[in-house]
Amino acid sequence: MSRPLRVTVWHEHRHEKKHPKVQEVYPDGMHTVMKSAIEEHLGADVEVRTALLDDADHGLSDDVLDETDVMTWWGHAAHGDVKDEIAQKVAERVRRGMGLVVLHSGHYSKPFKLLMGTNCHLKWREAAEIERLWNVSPGHPITAGLEKDYIELAETEMYGEHFDIPDPDELVFVSWFEGGEVFRSGCVWKRGAGKVFYFRPGHETFPIYYNPEVRRVLANGVGYVAPPAGVVPYRAGSPNIKEPLSPIAATHEVDASLHKH
Ligand code: ZN
Repeated sequence: MSRPLRVTVWHEHRHEKKHPKVQEVYPDGMHTVMKSAIEEHLGADVEVRTALLDDADHGLSDDVLDETDVMTWWGHAAHGDVKDEIAQKVAERVRRGMGLVVLHSGHYSKPFKLLMGTNCHLKWREAAEIERLWNVSPGHPITAGLEKDYIELAETEMYGEHFDIPDPDELVFVSWFEGGEVFRSGCVWKRGAGKVFYFRPGHETFPIYYNPEVRRVLANGVGYVAPPAGVVPYRAGSPNIKEPLSPIAATHEVDASLHKH
């Protein structure tokens, strides 16, 4: 049997320390609930660790990054406290094949913005409204096990279009909100050798990560963005291949000064 998938659940973990309402919903931190969702569905196929913003190097040392096949990312109030150097490393790992699942307000996180290349703006409203996430990609592995055409959440924070992201390679969920807006709430992109899955649910004052269908999609998403076994590592850099594989007929003088940086 191949080794288990190594998952790192990254969490900002600041709200739980300061806000009684968030402590009430997530007394042991949101990361423990997300971890349990992944373990509940993927069982012995995964080894899940957690990493927090206030850990040394945000819990993301080179060793941890080397031992991570899939990372999940939740942040909200402290995106600016994430060191640029670490965000760059996370983005580069994705390009080299690591899977990344970005949740809810992680739309403004540094790694997500680096990988998208857009500003990732959206509209929002906190009014405890109903959300229905419509499955617009039936048969997609991320939707496996969902019995209905949609996931209904009773109380949510609204995120509305326009969501400033590159067109997703795969659109899996589109949300409808009670107040009238719509939102692309489940999107997949390929970046280098890696995949990114953005999944919208997860506001800190609503018990979203206890919802059975959200837990299933989170675990499905982790499985979906996992690098396939035997993947050829992504090669970084842009080497100059001076020696061609076959003879080239033309004679050509290179002006090396044009290629200096
Ligand atoms: Zn929120």
